[in-house]
Amino acid sequence: MATRRYAVRDGVLVALDAPLLVVHGGAGVERADLSAEDEAAARKALEAALRAGHAALRAGQPSTEAVAAAIAVLEDAPQFNAGRGAVFTHDGRNELDASIMDGASGRAGAIAGVHRVKNPIRLARTVMERSKHVMMVGAGAEAFAAEQGVELVDPAYFRTEKRWQQLQQRLKEEASGQARLERPHDYFGTVGALALDGQGRLAAGTSTGGMTDKRYGRVGDSPIIGAGTWADARCAVSGTGWGEFYIRAAAAHEICARVRLAGAPLARAAEAVINRDIPRAGGDGGAIALGADGSLAFPFNTEGMYRGWIGADGVPHVAVFRDEALPLP
Ligand code: ASP
Repeated sequence: MATRRYAVRDGVLVALDAPLLVVHGGAGVERADLSAEDEAAARKALEAALRAGHAALRAGQPSTEAVAAAIAVLEDAPQFNAGRGAVFTHDGRNELDASIMDGASGRAGAIAGVHRVKNPIRLARTVMERSKHVMMVGAGAEAFAAEQGVELVDPAYFRTEKRWQQLQQRLKEEASGQARLERPHDYFGTVGALALDGQGRLAAGTSTGGMTDKRYGRVGDSPIIGAGTWADARCAVSGTGWGEFYIRAAAAHEICARVRLAGAPLARAAEAVINRDIPRAGGDGGAIALGADGSLAFPFNTEGMYRGWIGADGVPHVAVFRDEALPLP
């Protein structure tokens, strides 16, 4: 990698040789559940997402646009639990949540419980850019989407046979009293992205269908600023895992708070929250973290986590399982 150029801005060390973009496609992926074709398609989609975000950064777009562009590619890919390919709720619907945060300005946008928004991350960004609110839910969020010209689709667009069968399996287990009390391992596939643009500005975003068989309007961590998504001047995080535990830990904010207040190195702060605090509380999952200084971290405690990054040279690096090395910049 070329020699890094840095600047100190408001006391924050900022790498100026960005663009740098990081993505995840969810923790919880298990070898036994993944066919060779699905794995190849997922890797290809991760690379396409990295390239789309990188192209936005190379074109001089802000980090928020790069994050939205990368996430939209993953939402369109049926391999992930976000947009098309989202998991089903108990009553057989796809209910989508997403959020985005701009680390430079502290602005944020989030939506939850929508059924017709083709790219939930685009609506979250529109909430951030064109409303005075941070979070919108359900029918109100869809009305705002229609007003703003954000693309709406028939709810059937999100349906995939694989996710439908996962719900049927879960309902069968419930009916026979065999439903596991612990977290069912069919929530994985949430997507997220982080970007550092040429001006040293960070952004973070996350998009999900939540957990299979969710009921009662359940919302996880992904659309909650501070839980599933956070970005400030020096640190950006997107989480994936058992959302209830990420909310209780304010996980994404907690990682960045340790970096900001305790001066902890990004990787150590991310490791402590994701691989110590959350499992201690009974949860599991992973996260991606990106520092303004160009540092990266990919902590997770499941068998695999779809993940990758792309730097100034435009070469995407992708990994799925724990034993796969992911070269760092
Ligand atoms: N965190 C998401 C949720 O609980 C699920 C996931 O990351 O796969 O809704």
